[in-house]
Formats: sequence, structure tokens, C-alpha cells
Amino acid sequence: MRSLFTTRTCRGSPSTSCTAFVLPSMINAPGLGSAVGNTSVESDVAGVEETQGVMAASSKDAEGEAGVNDPTTAELREACGVIGCMLARSTPDGMVNVARMIYLGLVALQHRGQESAGIVTSEGPASTHFNYQKGDGLVAAIFTDEKLNKLKGDMGLGHSRYSTAGGRDPTNTQPFMVHTRHGPLATAHNGELINAGALRKAIMDRGVGLSTLSDSELITQMLSQAPPRGEKAKPDWGARIRHLIEATPTAYSLVVMQEDKIYGVRDPFGNRPLSIGRLMPLGTANEEDQRKPLGWVFSSESCAFQSMGATLMREVYPGEIVELSPDGVRSLDIVPRPKSTAPHSNAHGDPDDIDHETILLGPPPAFCIFEYVYFARADSVFEGQQVYSVRQRCGRQLAIESPVDADIISTVPESATPAALGFSLESGIPYIEVLCKNRYVGRSFIQPDTRSRQLAVAKKFGVLSENLMGRRVVLVDDSIVRGTTVGPIIQLLRQAGAKEVHIRVASPPLKHPCYMGINIPTRGELLANQKPLEELASYVGADSLAYLSIEGLRKAVRQGIVLKNNIPTGHCTACLDGNYPVNLEW
Ligand code: SF4
Repeated sequence: MRSLFTTRTCRGSPSTSCTAFVLPSMINAPGLGSAVGNTSVESDVAGVEETQGVMAASSKDAEGEAGVNDPTTAELREACGVIGCMLARSTPDGMVNVARMIYLGLVALQHRGQESAGIVTSEGPASTHFNYQKGDGLVAAIFTDEKLNKLKGDMGLGHSRYSTAGGRDPTNTQPFMVHTRHGPLATAHNGELINAGALRKAIMDRGVGLSTLSDSELITQMLSQAPPRGEKAKPDWGARIRHLIEATPTAYSLVVMQEDKIYGVRDPFGNRPLSIGRLMPLGTANEEDQRKPLGWVFSSESCAFQSMGATLMREVYPGEIVELSPDGVRSLDIVPRPKSTAPHSNAHGDPDDIDHETILLGPPPAFCIFEYVYFARADSVFEGQQVYSVRQRCGRQLAIESPVDADIISTVPESATPAALGFSLESGIPYIEVLCKNRYVGRSFIQPDTRSRQLAVAKKFGVLSENLMGRRVVLVDDSIVRGTTVGPIIQLLRQAGAKEVHIRVASPPLKHPCYMGINIPTRGELLANQKPLEELASYVGADSLAYLSIEGLRKAVRQGIVLKNNIPTGHCTACLDGNYPVNLEW
């Protein structure tokens, strides 16, 4: 057993060699697809049989250069937002444009990935090709009217991503497509397969070339093969996806498009989020119309549904495979978490008609608790509660755990604002803004000189000096990663006349790397590992500094959870306490 912390420098790096959860049968089966050359902006996969294409590899190790030494660069990076959209059979032609729905969804998920995006649509089972557009940058800049007009079809997938995993190579932009003997297949995912290195090696040992270092290509190749029990006349996509899940237990949410179906999948630990929505008619009070959905959508976060005119049905359950077709939504299967002896479940029917016995078995789920703390948009709903409310409760709990005698409470805008308001409500100390965020700073670049580096924080934040002059300020932040931003901000506040600056962090100290798809710096770079807790305040120049406890965070999260049918809940806190949801062997 190698140490968790010695070899891993980049998510999904080929140098990682996790040996857990590899099923060789997954790799040995025939029929692996060939990668579509998705370096072109539009792809036509007509008439291509299954082959084992070999294309130039790109470096998944490559660190994007952005923000290497810029202290204002987002220190935790989410890895992608996914969308799937399927129109109902009864929806009249021309009423809903799927490409534009996906576009709206991706704009709403822009906070999950701002480096590149892609949309793929299908014109149905009779069509031999998918329509595909992608590019680097923000969604609104990539998808012009002209590009969206080329994306014809009544079903499609969308994806937005950060490039720090897999480098900025455009071949890593999702959705990813392969040719199979059953037609084109597209996938898009959020997360990281914990055993991707071993799965890649096993596939390549079979002589199959992989064209990128993206986990999506790996997933797509694995889905291109028949499951071990074989198939009769037609491919059994539910069985193929189940086989994939059994080979890699975490951490991903996935959308898959094939023929006339879209599948939405969460790993058995439910580490990454995925919700199901109903596309509803707009501008009609007619009750019958209101009961008839125009289609169905998957999204990483429910915040996208409002932009698309959809309503939240529910989240995809951990381990669940949900199928969208022109006729509706079906829950196909729920794969138990490893160590469970649960029998194969096959709960067909209404999406709420699930196999509760299976879902209740095994170790608890491990939904990423940092979705609540930092990643998700405040209006998204997970586990029946809005993210904003959880953040506010974190602030309240922090005020209970670490009170401070001060004149005003303020925030590092903007994701810490609900927690700062919660702190203010609990403590009775007024909330007043002291920092003004410049939303137009654009991308972070390597700062070539000392002065540029020193000015990086001032470029991003202006100080509202009249609000803090001569006052004792409690500044609430949602998290501290490297601590490179907090010191310069404290300095700005002091220079502007703050009498005291107390830092309160609405999450516990980050101490461990994430192996589930979040780009967290190495242990040595994390502020909480650099000094003992009691020395951190003077280290960053604050009068005092305190974090929310792990138990306090759990309490704030659990307090508002509303789950139907006694669905079990559980959260990953591995970056805080080192307890990973699966036993990683390296
Ligand atoms: S280690 Fe931290 S960031 Fe990674 S999945 Fe777990 S809670 Fe989320």
C-alpha cells in the first residue's frame, strides 16, 4: 500500500496507479469504440464501424498556467457541469429548441467550469450522426446563433469544464463521442474515476488507444462494450452502465446519449450531484397544458432548471441509472455501494418507484460537503434544502462556536455572504459590506513581476473605507485554501482604517487532498498544514482567526435535509478529516 499523498499530483494523472475496483472483464470484452476526432467543431460519425483508433495523447498532468502565482485565483476548482435534455414525443415541432435549452442550462452552470464547453445533439435513431459544437471560454462567447442553429435534434447533452484536470488541450472538451456498432454514443461527466489510472492501463493493455487523458473517453470506451453476461439482439444500455458503475464506485455524475435515450447516472456514493427536471409549458394557465411536460432534463444543479423553464422533480439517487426517452422518465436500476451484498435490483417504472432496500444497504453515501460550502450556486437545492440556507446556518453555527466582540460583520464577496449574514443574525452584530468585488477582472495569468503579484488582490477587491473606519471588523470567508488571499485582504482593510480584523471561516480547515474530482492544492500548500491553528492569525496578520468545526458543518448541513422515503444520507468530509469514502489502494 503506497501512501495516499506521495504520488498523486494531478487528478486522473497517468502516473496514478490505483488498483482498487478494476474489473478486468470490463476491459476484455469485445467492441470497444474508437474515439471520434473531436478536435473539429462539428462531427459526423456516419457509417463508422467499431475500430480501435489510436490518436495522439495529450497531457492530463499539464497544469493550466492560469493563476499559478496569482493569489486571487479560485483556490478550489470544481470539475464541470453537465446537462441532458430530451423532448417529449407529444411536443409539437418547433416549440422547444433543445440546443438553446442546453445553452441556457450551461450558462446557469457556468460557475462549475469556465474554460471550455460543448453541446452535442441527436436527430434521433434514424440519424447516423450527432451534431457537435464546442470551444474554449465562456458559454455565451462560444455558442453564437450560427453555431446553435447547426445543433438540430430533439435530444442532447451539454458540458462546461475547468481545464486544470486534463490540461487545456481542446481534445479534453466534453461531451465525448465514440462510434460503436450500434451507432454514435456521447457522454459527459462531472467528477473523477478514482481508479482511472488502472482502468486506462487495462484498456491500453488490450491494444486500445485512447486519444485523450479525459475520464470521459475512458467511460465512453467502457460503455462501448457488451456486459459480461452478454446481450441478445440489441445492446442493453442499463446493463452496460451498471457494469461501468461496478468497475468504478466513485466519484462521478454522468449523462449518456445513445439512439433515442439519455441516461443520467450518479455513482453509488452520490459524491457528485445530478438532478432531474421537467420542462414545463410557459405562458399558459391552462391546467391540462401545465400537467403535460414538454420534456425532461438532467442538470448538475437545480439552479439550471429555472433558466430552462423546468421544475425540479428530484435528485438522481446514489447509484441510480435514470433513463429519459420521448415517452418519459424511468428509474432503470440502483447499484449498491461496494461491500453491500444486495442482489441486483431492477426497479423499472415510475422514477419514484425505486428499490428502497437496495438504496438503504451498504455504507452511507458520500455527497461532497463542499458543494454546500463553496461549489454550488446558492439557489440550488440538494437533499431537499437550498444551498443558501445551509451557508447561512454555517454562519450561525460559527458565531455560536467562535464569538467575537466586534462592531460589524462583513463578507469576502460573494459566496461567503450568506454565512456572514448568518453570523450577523446569530451574534446580533450588524452586517455591513466592506469589500467591493470587481466582476470584470477576467482570467488570472502568471504575474511576471513582484508588483503585479502584490496588486492581484487590490485588482479584485475595492475597500468601502467609510464602512469600516475605526471599527472592529469580523470578516467571514467561506473557506481558506492556501491563505494567499486572506493576508492581502486584511492588509487592505487595515490600510483603509479598520481598528481590528477578525477572520471567521465558515468551514473547517482544509488539510487533505481530494481524490474525487476537486482540484485541491497539495498538503504542503494548504494553509491549515503550514502552522498550528493558534499561530495562523498572526501568520496572516489577523487579530484572531477561527474555523467552523467539522461537527458544526455537519450539523448545519443535516439540519435542513428533507429526503423522501428514508433515503439514507451521508457526506464526504475527506479533505477535512482524511476519511475517504472508499478504501483507496495505490
Ligand atoms: S474530499 Fe472534500 S472536495 Fe473532495 S469530494 Fe470530499 S468533501 Fe468534496
